[in-house]
Amino acid sequence: MKMNKRKWQQALGGVMIFSLAGSILAGCGSAEEAKPESSAKTAPSSALTAEAGQSGKASDTPVTLSVHMISQNLPFDDTWAVFTEAAKKTNVSLEGTIPKTVTDRTEAFNLMMASGNIADIVSNTKANMDRFGQEGAFVPLDELIDKYAPNIKKFLEERPDVKAVGTAADGKMYYLPFAPDGEAASGWFVRQDWLDKLGLKTPVTVDEYYQVLKAFKEKDPNGNNKADEIPYFTRDTNVAAYGLLALWDADQGYYLKSDKIAFGPLEPQYKTGISSVVQWYEEGLIDREIFTRGSKARDILLADNTGGSTRDWFASTAAYNDSLKDKVPGLSFVPIAPPADINGKVVEYTARAVVIPSGWGISASSKHQEEAIKYFDYWYTEEGRRLANFGVEGVTYTLENGKPKFTDEILNSGTVTQTLWKYGVQMEFGFHQDFEYERQYLNPIAAKGMSDYIDKKYTREQIPSLSYTAEEEARLKSLEASINTYVSETSQKWILGAEPVEGNYDAFVAQLKTMGVEEVLKIKNDAYARYLKQ
Ligand code: CA
Repeated sequence: MKMNKRKWQQALGGVMIFSLAGSILAGCGSAEEAKPESSAKTAPSSALTAEAGQSGKASDTPVTLSVHMISQNLPFDDTWAVFTEAAKKTNVSLEGTIPKTVTDRTEAFNLMMASGNIADIVSNTKANMDRFGQEGAFVPLDELIDKYAPNIKKFLEERPDVKAVGTAADGKMYYLPFAPDGEAASGWFVRQDWLDKLGLKTPVTVDEYYQVLKAFKEKDPNGNNKADEIPYFTRDTNVAAYGLLALWDADQGYYLKSDKIAFGPLEPQYKTGISSVVQWYEEGLIDREIFTRGSKARDILLADNTGGSTRDWFASTAAYNDSLKDKVPGLSFVPIAPPADINGKVVEYTARAVVIPSGWGISASSKHQEEAIKYFDYWYTEEGRRLANFGVEGVTYTLENGKPKFTDEILNSGTVTQTLWKYGVQMEFGFHQDFEYERQYLNPIAAKGMSDYIDKKYTREQIPSLSYTAEEEARLKSLEASINTYVSETSQKWILGAEPVEGNYDAFVAQLKTMGVEEVLKIKNDAYARYLKQ
């Protein structure tokens, strides 16, 4: 089921959720975790600086801990400036255990677990950390955090969602999740220069959006005397035309509805939504090749000066205004607020995951569990968070008015994130990202769009990463694949006009029930109820 939900999230949200879901850290520990000490629980949770050993550091004397971690497809590199700087501050140095030639995170993890030689600190997916943690390979972090990690404790109190995603089905935390920042993911884009040419205003409702697409189709906004405009397109063949269902308050996947997980195709508005999308497709408002055009759709249709509107990630979509300015003079492809749906609701279904089901933990067999948790705690101090987000002062950033600003060398590198990775900046482990790092290099059009979506809270609350028991996982695995295949085949058939929705929708719902969709929903809702109780 996790596969399914994430597939849909990816489909809707684009690639960034997956690229963020890079790495995990876990450690090992025996199930014999630290004994409770009531005195330790008196540490003030408001402390902003790490209350570590006598030295104020994670370790009184320098210590080196082994780390198993791959982030951004890069194995941990002992020379990353972020971590050598952290070593100076904490007395804890990390030594990577994965050879530079290895980039497959799952394979590396499986090899390590099979060897029985588990690093002090391990980064991996929630699924692996939860599973092997519950089997005793990783130490539960809860009491260690209580005793030694006031900054983590404070953060988890402020962010119960992070704590919940970090918590396994047995109620314990075996890893600290990576917490991204900046929740806007995709936005609606429209050709502003075409609107201007046709004397149209920015569409704010589903009806106005329809009129705009219709005008793009019929009024030759690219001025070549051919009806070659493709009003709505997307490069995401999974989301395809279903992205438009939002305009009828409908959904192709699982979503949160009044604190319950619902499945879009079973909801009554789905029939209206899919029927309307079918009609738009018939009228030529939707790319005829929307299911097959694929990942180059934006490149091709914008460069051909034929694509009119899409939903996609802000940064990469806004960038065409620069990259195509010579080829398509006057191109102005700008984000707009989501058109209000038929009920007048303005909502964007996609959002970046606010917690990534991946992070680091501590081996149950590590002799340095106390140092490791204090080291983890460092990354939740103001200083540690800045180091993880911006790197080293004087190397990757300078302070301006007390705030970090990336150096020109970084900002002008052309590949900002990849350049930052060379210093170990923005690796994904247990820390809280700061969206400011990204804002500094966003195209202004993208930055404005993202700010609007964030400030006006257009994004819909997402289903969090849920924790399933082994039994639930097995049931989901046996039920979900066929349900998803059936839904996508049927809805595609409807949109392409091979079968009418009318007369077939009820049978479609009945078939989903026969296939066990209600059991899937029950399992998901049971897990979600556990999540809410965390
Ligand atoms: Ca034309």
